[in-house]
Amino acid sequence: MVKDSPLLTIVHVLALIALVIGASALSSGLWGGPPEKPSKSRQLVITEGMTAAQFGEANQLPDALLKEAFNLSSDAELDKKIAEFGAPREISSLIAGKLALAAEHAGKNWLKIRLKFASWLLFLSLVFIYLSRRKLTPSRRIWLLCSSVFLFGVVLGADPGPMGTIKDAIHLYGTEHVIFPPRMIALALFLALVVLANKYICGWGCQAGTLQELVYRINSTEKQEPRIGRHVKLPFVVTNTFRTLFFGTFVLVVFLRGTDIIAPLDPFKIYNPASLALSGGIFIAALLLLSMFVYRPWCHLFCPFGLVGWLLEKVSRAKITVDYQTCIACQKCAAACPSTVMGAILRRDKQTIPDCFACYTCRDVCPTGSIQFSKNKRALPPKDHFTKK
Ligand code: SF4
Ligand code: SF4
Repeated sequence: MVKDSPLLTIVHVLALIALVIGASALSSGLWGGPPEKPSKSRQLVITEGMTAAQFGEANQLPDALLKEAFNLSSDAELDKKIAEFGAPREISSLIAGKLALAAEHAGKNWLKIRLKFASWLLFLSLVFIYLSRRKLTPSRRIWLLCSSVFLFGVVLGADPGPMGTIKDAIHLYGTEHVIFPPRMIALALFLALVVLANKYICGWGCQAGTLQELVYRINSTEKQEPRIGRHVKLPFVVTNTFRTLFFGTFVLVVFLRGTDIIAPLDPFKIYNPASLALSGGIFIAALLLLSMFVYRPWCHLFCPFGLVGWLLEKVSRAKITVDYQTCIACQKCAAACPSTVMGAILRRDKQTIPDCFACYTCRDVCPTGSIQFSKNKRALPPKDHFTKK
């Protein structure tokens, strides 16, 4: 645990960022996998009377791709006239989609992806058991977060991450009108995790989320007070409105212009420093420094998975619940919660409970053990519970 010295806190934060960037550059150099090459839209040569085989030759397309695109079962069928498969425009868009899917497939390190999902399953299960059984001391929290950052970010890389599954799926569909099935499976798994266990994947498994949280916790004392400056809890109505508008703008720009406005700002790229432009590097540095004072700014203000996950939290099987029979109304939980969630729960705010990142801070500070994650319906506090003392 870092001591309460402002200078030491800054040194720890800077050292962490430098270590993450340096080790990630090394790791992605060692086994980063093939560089992602987005398929470039190209003008296809299609002339009247051309066969499928001639079309393939003229455009340097492999037979396997042609057979898949035109649903052909044998090489002999490649002699069919290309006009049988549609108008030139339809054929161009069909082939562009197939090329985009092939580029997606070729740009992935499948060994790493399989390892990452297996590691998520193991790590999150162990952390879940650990958190359910005992209180988390601040120093153990720091070690758990460090483990997550280094395992899922530095070692296993920027891709995949919960956010990319949504962002990249929308971008691919908006530009090429195709869906990459492995990405949809990953997205379904992440969303299923939210339904099962709240934003547990964000809280403990997302490489960008845990890095922001680690920086925030380094700037927190054992009593959850800031070592430097102030911890600012931005009003949820502001952050969520901004996040929703940002998401809407992202979708609009993808469909109208084919541009991914998140890519240049993507904080996951810190784990693949070679892919970062200067502006992206400056943005991420600012985001991480802001994380010292604001809890998970990317998650609350920008992340598409953050938004979708927040909506799904409403039907999650494990949510923060308070037993008001034993609660002594001290409100230590709301004060310690790094976000505005616990305050909203205690305020009887039914509709707009902000994102809860399953950090367990509220449970750990409760002197009467009245807080737990449970599948039970969240009860409202009795009306005069916090005023009757
Ligand atoms: S909300 Fe935060 S933790 Fe969750 S996917 Fe987005 S960046 Fe990761
Ligand atoms: S302190 Fe409690 S309510 Fe607040 S984010 Fe953490 S787990 Fe959720």
